[in-house]
Parts: sequence; structure tokens; C-alpha cells
Amino acid sequence: MNADIMSVLQFLYKLRNSEVESSYTEANGIVVTWNPPWATTNENYNHSIYKANFGLSKKAFRRLLKSMLKAELVSGCLCGCRGDIEITQKGINALFAKE
Ligand SMILES: [Zn+2]
Repeated sequence: MNADIMSVLQFLYKLRNSEVESSYTEANGIVVTWNPPWATTNENYNHSIYKANFGLSKKAFRRLLKSMLKAELVSGCLCGCRGDIEITQKGINALFAKE
């Protein structure tokens, strides 16, 4: 599976299990707090998925998330609302599937 997809699945799996490392920091060095088990797509929140530093432009990342939603690897919404992006059981299975 695509390495970017695997990175996002890994991140959301850790988020679900409250295991996200403090290395997820904003550009200004402030450690991002991830309280809920989902990530918002709204940039102005601390638990915004855009702050997880996947190394993609916002546009490319949004396109990636859209494909992941379509493939049912994640659940949530990209309409501009809170988003509530979470890994699905299908996403978990993909994450742990043998190559
Ligand atoms: Zn929405």
C-alpha cells in the first residue's frame, strides 16, 4: 500500500489508542495535544490532522484523505465541518496486513 496512506493509518491508529507521540509538534515548536480519538480537518484546532506533519501540501493531503474515505480506510467528513477523521476496522486490517 502507498507509503503516505500507511503513515496516516499508523497515525490514526495511534491516535485511537492515545499513543500519539509528543513529536507531533506545530512549526513553532508547541507540542500538539490530541485529546479525542479522532482528528479534525479544521486547521485552527490543536488536534487538526494537518498538524501531524505528513510532509504533504494541504491540497495533496486532502486528496489523499478523500481517496482513503472512498476506500473506507478512514471515516469522517471533508465538507469543511469538524471532520472527525478516524481509522476504520478496514483501515486497521490494512495497516496490519502482510505485504
Ligand atoms: Zn462535514
